[in-house]
Amino acid sequence: MNLFYASPSDILENSVTIHGQEAKHISKVLRFGEGDTIQITDGAGTLYNCIIERVHKERLTAIIERSEKEMRKLPHVTLCLGIIKKRDRLEFAVEKSVELGADAILLFSADNSEREKVRLDRVEGIVLSAMKQSKGLWLPEVYLANSLKDVVQKAGDDTTIVTADEQLNMTIDPEKIPDSRKYFLIVGPEGGFSKRERDFLNSMQSTRYSLGERRLRAETAAIVMVDRFKQLG
Ligand code: SAH
Repeated sequence: MNLFYASPSDILENSVTIHGQEAKHISKVLRFGEGDTIQITDGAGTLYNCIIERVHKERLTAIIERSEKEMRKLPHVTLCLGIIKKRDRLEFAVEKSVELGADAILLFSADNSEREKVRLDRVEGIVLSAMKQSKGLWLPEVYLANSLKDVVQKAGDDTTIVTADEQLNMTIDPEKIPDSRKYFLIVGPEGGFSKRERDFLNSMQSTRYSLGERRLRAETAAIVMVDRFKQLG
C-alpha cells in the first residue's frame, strides 16, 4: 500500500487534510476516492490508517481510524556529503541514503566542490519521495553548510564524527568505531578532501573509516557509509 505525507499541522485529533500535489496525486493519478483506505505519515514517527472522507479540487480530508507511533531507530545517522558537480549524482546519493535510513542530510560546499549552489527545495522533494517509497515514518531534515568546518560545528557533543577516507586503504576493524547514538558521516566530493580539510579533520581527531582499497565515487561511498552505520543499530 502507498504511504502519503501530511505535515503535522494538517493532522488534527480525528482527521487529516492533504493539500496540493499530494492530494491531486491521490485522487487523480491513483484514483482513490471517498471511502477508500489510505496510510498517511506525519514524518515524525506516526503512521495513520485513514478513510478518505471528501475529495475537493485541491485538497482532501480523511478520517483517522487508527494510529501507531514508531520510535526512531538508532543510531541517528547524518550523511554529510561534499557537493558534487553533477546534480543527478548528488540526487542519487540523497535518494538512496534516505531509502537506506539516513536520518538527516547535510550538503556542504567542500574546497574541491566544483559547484556551490544546491536547490534545497529539490533536495527536500527527493527526500520526501524517498521516505514514502521506503515506508519511512521519519522525514529526514536537509541542511546546507558553507564549509567542512561549518559541518563540524553543527555536530552536537553527543555526535561521533566519522570521515570516509579513501587514503586509508584498508578496512578498519569494526570494533574501533566508537559506539554512539549519533553519527555524522563525512564523505568528500569527487575531488576528495583538500589538504586544508585533511589537516582540520586530523586536528579534531575524527574517526577515519575505510570502505576498502578501491576508490569509490562519492555517491557510492555515501550510500555504503549510510548502510554500514545504520546496520550498527
Ligand atoms: N580524492 C580522490 C577521490 C575522492 S572519492 C581522487 O580524486 O583521487 C570521493 C569521496 O568518496 C572521498 O573523499 C571519500 O570520502 C569517499 N571514498 C571513496 N572511496 C573510498 C574508500 N575506499 N573508503 C572510504 N571512503 C571513500
